Amino acid sequence: MKLIIFGPQASGKGTQAEKLAQEYNLKHVSPGAIMRHEIEQNTILGQKVKPYLEQGQLVPTNVILEIIQNALKNENDFILDGFPRDIEQALAFDKILSFDKAIFLKVPDKVSKERIQGRRECEDGHDYHILYKPPKIPGICDEDGKKLHMREDDKDNILNERLRIYHENTEEVIRHYESLGKIITINGDQTIEEVHQAIQRALN
Ligand code: AMP
Repeated sequence: MKLIIFGPQASGKGTQAEKLAQEYNLKHVSPGAIMRHEIEQNTILGQKVKPYLEQGQLVPTNVILEIIQNALKNENDFILDGFPRDIEQALAFDKILSFDKAIFLKVPDKVSKERIQGRRECEDGHDYHILYKPPKIPGICDEDGKKLHMREDDKDNILNERLRIYHENTEEVIRHYESLGKIITINGDQTIEEVHQAIQRALN
């Protein structure tokens, strides 16, 4: 199965994508997570994309397409989380690959902003939420024992810019796939389990 998941910041895309990836044996591809890892490792790619992530700006399409193509090489089943993010990326993607369904998690900005306050991750990108997905020991990653912190780009001024770009660019992509009958809209303002069940019902 080939899926895409859309939604604003902190709509639960990453969490739901992880669950679906496990359940349906899909490769979970998040260009944002791949780039944060490259930045942590201080690779050439990491150095190139760092200024964009720090400012909450979209990384140039050619760079993102290369990341996506590498990540999807020889993959028949995947879930894309965070791509395509504007119409240029969507049209480029449409030329190279097709997919089955795109899940759109609908969440108001107010909820996005509230959720972001509690979002934490470790330097390897394992993510938590202090209320909805808490680690076993507060402030410590369950998987590798590393310290949890708030993402720099989740801080208020950068977050507002990311939400602005989402409304300006990504909603156009959602409309594009809606017109092709590919979108499943899910109310993302429910518990993690409720959202997951709603997605399962829609996919079945
Ligand atoms: P995310 O983890 O999806 O919230 O993405 C974090 C940041 O990575 C974004 O604010 C952008 O700077 C960059 N990014 C992630 N995905 C894309 C994409 N498809 N196109 C351009 N930039 C992206």
